[in-house]
Amino acid sequence: MQRVLPSDEIARSVAQPIPRLRLPDRATVFARRAARLDRLATDNPLSGYLHLMAEVSRVQQALLDALAPPVVADEDLARAAAHRMPVLPVNDHRRHRDWQAILAQLCERLSTSTALPTALSDLLTHLRQTSAVALDEQADGLLVGRMERIDPASAPFLMAALQVCWTAMAAALDPARVAPLDVPGVCPVCGSLPVASLVRGDGHRYLHCALCATEWHLVRAKCSHCDAVEGIAYRFIEQRSDAVRAETCEHCRVYRKILLQEKDQHVEAVADDLASVALDVLVGEAGYHRASANPLLWPSAEG
Ligand SMILES: [Zn+2]
Ligand SMILES: [Zn+2]
Repeated sequence: MQRVLPSDEIARSVAQPIPRLRLPDRATVFARRAARLDRLATDNPLSGYLHLMAEVSRVQQALLDALAPPVVADEDLARAAAHRMPVLPVNDHRRHRDWQAILAQLCERLSTSTALPTALSDLLTHLRQTSAVALDEQADGLLVGRMERIDPASAPFLMAALQVCWTAMAAALDPARVAPLDVPGVCPVCGSLPVASLVRGDGHRYLHCALCATEWHLVRAKCSHCDAVEGIAYRFIEQRSDAVRAETCEHCRVYRKILLQEKDQHVEAVADDLASVALDVLVGEAGYHRASANPLLWPSAEG
């Protein structure tokens, strides 16, 4: 039988040496990602795209800086803890109406901040003219991973706007009031899937949420997709950084990247995952499926 932890017990559990949750730092989260993307763009086959996403991340940081910290209601926190549910569930749009205003600002700033290829400029104009209903439908598809509804070209920009909203809310939370979930592979704050995992300098491994940038602890050598602890292996490309590896699982035949800070202290989950598509190709050819998409790069529905 599941037991609901009283809030003081939750508070004690997060006060222990391994923090269960690491909420995003709203002052730096997107700026760090932007710097990392620019750095990784050197000698990378995706160089142009990485620089573009660096610019997207810089605009995200500026938009987040301008947002007032949202207030999450006590009753929502209490209800989530009582039911062991995410506090800010992805399928609940009620209090995130401002995501479309953020998308409009993102498109406008990108249009003026960079010399854009015509196709991209047209896409940003198209997004600004898309109806609110159609944008919400696309967001629903993105947030719950229904690939048939997703336009891969628009998805990174929609996702960038949604990330700003959810990251602002996640950063405003008190970690002691975020209850653990029964499912270790999804974000305890928003219920999204992780983009990658990261082993910090202290040796502890965290999964990094693709939407709200929250990180939550998971023991090492365990599949983040199916929880298997046997049949886990690590693959990387020798000529490239060995700080980025694919954690493959023989049980579910799925992989997710794992980043090692001890090999490179600057690793950043979204950026390093995006910049290492060569590793995706290698592991895909070996017969493993990617656990979940990078928020800034979406495959086509048939792909
Ligand atoms: Zn999250
Ligand atoms: Zn597995």
